[in-house]
This record gives sequence, structure tokens and C-alpha cells, in this order.
Amino acid sequence: MEWTLSPFTIYLGVKGKCENLHHHNYFLGNNFKEYADTIFKTSVNPQKPYYYVNVSSKSNTSCAPEGCENIFILCPVPDLRYKPNWNDSQQLADNIISDLSSRINFDLHKNTLTKTIMNPVDWQNSFNLYRGSGLGLAHGLNQIGGFRPKNKDEEFSNLYYVGASTIPGTGLPMVVISSKLVLERILLDFQK
Ligand SMILES: Cc1cc2nc3c(=O)[nH]c(=O)nc-3n(C[C@H](O)[C@H](O)[C@H](O)COP(=O)(O)OP(=O)(O)OC[C@H]3O[C@@H](n4cnc5c(N)ncnc54)[C@H](O)[C@@H]3O)c2cc1C
Repeated sequence: MEWTLSPFTIYLGVKGKCENLHHHNYFLGNNFKEYADTIFKTSVNPQKPYYYVNVSSKSNTSCAPEGCENIFILCPVPDLRYKPNWNDSQQLADNIISDLSSRINFDLHKNTLTKTIMNPVDWQNSFNLYRGSGLGLAHGLNQIGGFRPKNKDEEFSNLYYVGASTIPGTGLPMVVISSKLVLERILLDFQK
């Protein structure tokens, strides 16, 4: 089976306003194909990582104290099959924070009040995510629709499955639809 990428996430509480950041921000290089082809199957820490940054305090001031910003950074990285050792997490986080600081012209290292890092091992251990795969089973052609694990067990008639790795798929909207489908199937089977 094919699995989705692993997340490497950093949560920063920052003193000061980052004028050059928006609510949603993507920081990519100019070698997208080469990066995407290799990043998920390597055991080494990416030197020039691509990453997404969310600053919810840009839209909702109650997300951070006055004059401060809350910054969430998500960097897609290889899952635990390819990179089982994440002892270099601090180095990768520093690398990303330095890169972001220079891109937005704001010294995040100096102005950080709180910092939390979660690597694929943390994601696996905190939520039992298989191999640290953030979104569960991938949506390749062989794993969508009828090819995806069903909501109802094929052997036990009273066992049902809901969530990202079953039908219809991964992500919060799909998971909510999945719960609706399971409910419909249970009602169909038991509401005679
Ligand atoms: C960093 C990150 C960012 C994401 N961003 C987005 C986004 O922007 N938009 C979006 O739509 N989706 C996003 N997703 C994906 C989304 O979070 C998942 O698809 C969704 O949460 C899956 O829901 P679920 O109910 O299947 O599983 P989960 O949300 O993982 O819930 C499963 C629960 O079961 C618990 N559990 C696991 N094993 C056991 C056990 N043996 N016994 C008891 N409890 C157990 C876990 O602790 C967990 O609480 C993101 C995921 C990650 C990791």
C-alpha cells in the first residue's frame, strides 16, 4: 500500500509582528520536480526544505497576545520507512527558522517566546499514525473509490471503519463524509 508524506511541524510563539507574512504562506525553491521526486525517499535532513507557514493571528487576533504572532510551520518529510532516525530534528528546525527569518526579514530565533517541534516519530507516538504518515493511505489510482479499504469489514458483518484510510479518503472534510457513510451503512443494516 502507498502512504502519504510525514509532517515535520514547528509551533512558534513570537514577540513582534511579522509584516511580511500572511495567514497562508508557501516557501518553495525553483527545483520543484527534483525536490518532490527525492525528498520523500531520502534518509537525510533536507538542506533547503520546502515548507508551508500558517499565521492564524493574522486573521484572528485572539490567537496570540497583543503584539505577538503564532506561527505554524509544516515541512513535508520522508516517513519512518526512509528516515527512521530524527535525532537531527533540532538542526532541521533551526535550518527552517533561519531560512524563514531571512525570507521575511524578521529574526525569529531572537524573538521566539515558545517553540514546539513535532517530527514523524512524535506524530506516530502521539496519534498512532502508521510510520508517521500524516494523512494515512495515499490517494493513488489503485487506492481510491472501490480500491480503497471499505467502511464495512468483509468478514465481520457488524464491524465498520471510519477515517482517513477508508472511504472516501483523507483530510477533515473526507473524514466527516466517511462518518456519514458509516452511519448510513449501519442504519441500512440494522434499521429494519
Ligand atoms: C500536520 C497535519 C496537518 C494536517 N492538515 C490538514 C488540513 O489542513 N486539512 C485537512 O483537511 N486535513 C489535514 N490533515 C489531515 C487530517 O488531520 C486527517 O486526515 C484526519 O485527522 C484523519 O481523521 P481520523 O479520524 O481518520 O484520524 P485521527 O484524526 O488521527 O484520529 C484518530 C484518533 O484515534 C486515536 N487512536 C489511534 N490508535 C488508537 C488506539 N489503538 N486506541 C485508542 N485510540 C487510538 C488517535 O490518538 C486519534 O486521536 C493534517 C494532518 C496532519 C498530521
